[in-house]
Amino acid sequence: MGKIPLYRNYVDGRWQEDANRREKVINPANAKVIAEAVISSPQIVHEAVDAAKRAQPAWKAVPAPERGELLFEIAQKLKEKKEELAQVLTAENGKPIQEARGEVQEAIDMGFYMAGEGRRLFGQTVPAELPNKHAMSVRSPVGVAGLITPWNFPIAIASWKMFPAIVSGNTVVWKPALETPGMADQFVKILDECGLPHGVVNLVNGTGEEAGNAIVEHDEVDIVSFTGSTATGRAIASKAGGMLKKVSLEMGGKNAITVMDSADINLAVDGILWSGFGTSGQRCTAASRIIVHRAVKQELEEALVAKTRELAVGDGADENTDVGPVIGETALTSIHDYVKIGRQEGELLCGGQILNEGKYKKGYYYEPTIITNVHPSARIAQEEIFGPVLAIIPVNSLSEAIQVNNDSAYGLSSSIFTNNTNEVFRAMHEMDTGIVYVNAGTTGAEIHLPFGGTKKTGNGHRDSGTASLDVFTEWKSVYVDY
Ligand code: NAP
Repeated sequence: MGKIPLYRNYVDGRWQEDANRREKVINPANAKVIAEAVISSPQIVHEAVDAAKRAQPAWKAVPAPERGELLFEIAQKLKEKKEELAQVLTAENGKPIQEARGEVQEAIDMGFYMAGEGRRLFGQTVPAELPNKHAMSVRSPVGVAGLITPWNFPIAIASWKMFPAIVSGNTVVWKPALETPGMADQFVKILDECGLPHGVVNLVNGTGEEAGNAIVEHDEVDIVSFTGSTATGRAIASKAGGMLKKVSLEMGGKNAITVMDSADINLAVDGILWSGFGTSGQRCTAASRIIVHRAVKQELEEALVAKTRELAVGDGADENTDVGPVIGETALTSIHDYVKIGRQEGELLCGGQILNEGKYKKGYYYEPTIITNVHPSARIAQEEIFGPVLAIIPVNSLSEAIQVNNDSAYGLSSSIFTNNTNEVFRAMHEMDTGIVYVNAGTTGAEIHLPFGGTKKTGNGHRDSGTASLDVFTEWKSVYVDY
């Protein structure tokens, strides 16, 4: 094996190797070991929190427009390195290179957007009830922010948290996912090169159980911002909530696309393909339920199956790949187990197999799969599969479609394809998810709008957009008598 990179921690402005253990980083396209990452003990987390705590007063004292200017430089640097970052992302996460470029672009956009917040961070001035009094509210940083992020959007999600956290004067301890330490390494190197003061952002690689948990349980971490599975989020919430710290949770989804009888079927098929099979279905906003009006069910299914069979499944590094590998062996097995269940709950229209021959032999590939005539209460219609699997549910009306759409423990993203204006507005008001799309699939966030979900998807906070400032700031009311 040739020399491979070692991804280290970055604590108080110094790159450090923790002597404990190392974990291999695998390219899911071919199962090759491409790097190693240090696995940190809770002690390293404590050092990182200490560094963040020490750095916070000085960082808070830097005028917000100056913090914003630094973010602008960081965003510029991300832009310069876009292709390099995208290559690292595809190699360790498996997503097709075109999608990887799109994800890096999201981080760049978020950087520029939040740089501008350095000149806003608006508060409010309100009329006082008494004479000779001035009443206003200002935003104040929360303190030390613990960020815990998943592998499926390793730089976009990190940027949704990191940029609002630092522009508003917090300092950060970040634990990225084990699978994607290369993205974290590249991101933090850019912060360092741009001159972010030492201790403002600290990177700790390690497992969720050790390093992640040590962040959650540390008394001096004032806010935990987490994105990942609902099971992990629940465990984090019960610990951090018990310690009375602020917790922002972005978790799983079971997103549905509704196709009504007036819909443009070709448009709907394109939206379904991208939302269902993009990133191999491993997005929190991935479409996994297709709710279709019976009048257009057959037409939709025929077009969808034909286009699904044309998708090029392969190594994400190949520019022509539409669907890359899934993240690893465990994911592959779990997806296949769900498909076995689904075949008993409905009728398989296409796919349904692990791909493990010829060019697929060494990686973790699953055929894009569609199962139809699924009951809304079936397991494949209720549980998050996190793979390229669609369940088609036929309905007779918009009311029934909305009922099925909302019959989910999750509440992240919904979409409707229709050419009926009345149905557009009903969907907007009645679909009970954090995001509703009209005539587009369930994925593709714009960074200036709030991102997140209701029910078991989230706890009311939002990533991205100006709403993310509410996560990383506290409101302070100020009364001046004069
Ligand atoms: P996960 O297993 O919950 O892991 C997410 C992060 O939490 C990882 O860094 C993980 O560390 C860490 N972690 C695990 N156990 C922990 C613990 N006890 N304490 C503290 N941290 C802990 O989720 P995943 O499988 O990587 O990601 C997929 C899930 O994320 C899906 O459910 C998806 O829907 C959801 N997601 C949601 C959104 C959203 O915005 N709503 C966006 C993307 C993904 P390790 O490195 O050890 O795994």
